[in-house]
Amino acid sequence: MEFFNKLGKKASEAYQATKEKASDISEEIKIKNKINNLEEKVYEIYAEIGEKVYNEIKDGKDVSKEEISGKCEEISSKKDEMSRLHAQLLTLKKMKKCVNCGEKLDIDAEFCSKCGTKQPKTENVEVQENPEEGTKDAEVIEINDVEENKKDSNEENK
Ligand SMILES: [Zn+2]
Repeated sequence: MEFFNKLGKKASEAYQATKEKASDISEEIKIKNKINNLEEKVYEIYAEIGEKVYNEIKDGKDVSKEEISGKCEEISSKKDEMSRLHAQLLTLKKMKKCVNCGEKLDIDAEFCSKCGTKQPKTENVEVQENPEEGTKDAEVIEINDVEENKKDSNEENK
């Protein structure tokens, strides 16, 4: 019975943590909006480049590289901004991407669960300003562990 009480307690703690995540979720929406806006702008620039190239080719001119490369730089800087925002989004969800294959991993993961690549320390990621929250997350993760242990012990006992 103690096991179930423990599980119930963990679940309510998880619920509490979820409630506290509400502000994170609105932050998440803000970041996603920013990413969407940037993506739209990138496609607008792609279209501008396409139109320029089309017109110049149509008129039998050489495509002027200077004009196009300026637009390309704009796209690159927007893409940089987008990947920065994507990283922020993952940090918000206490996640990170594998440096090798891009698999989404827990922020504390030392190795990739997919390709096994050792992950660099994530000290530069600003996330641990609230140590209490970190503790709760660790307990939430434990729920899965408990369930796995339950399965394991059942198999052993039978
Ligand atoms: Zn990987």
